[in-house]
Amino acid sequence: MQDCIFCKIIARDTPSEFIKESDNFIVVKDIQPQAPIHFLIISKKHIESISHLGEADQHLIGQMLYQAKLLAAEHGLAERGYKVVINCGQDGGQVVPHLHFHFLGGKKMAGLV
Ligand code: 5GP
Ligand code: ZN
Repeated sequence: MQDCIFCKIIARDTPSEFIKESDNFIVVKDIQPQAPIHFLIISKKHIESISHLGEADQHLIGQMLYQAKLLAAEHGLAERGYKVVINCGQDGGQVVPHLHFHFLGGKKMAGLV
């Protein structure tokens, strides 16, 4: 997708701080961190949101969520806890229409849920 900021990051057309890259997703630092640790787990495939997932994308979602578990372990957060957030659509507060999970940690986070 030409005008998608996350597709540009994946294509290295826009610089970003990469934490990890696998066949199906990347992990980068969020440009406006909301916590001491704020990563984005972004699918390489341009899927607009959870609502646009196909049946065949179920494995991808599992891989992205498992990556959150690995990030927690790697950053010493498994015990103290962290948040994984997926915004979906307008009411969900999604700003970038390309599937991504927020991984947040390093402070106590009170929220809606
Ligand atoms: P959303 O509200 O769509 O769930 O979250 C989009 C996230 O992408 C925001 O937290 C925002 O700070 C982040 N973001 C937007 N543009 C860029 C960018 O160019 N690079 C990086 N690393 N993060 C971005
Ligand atoms: Zn995209």
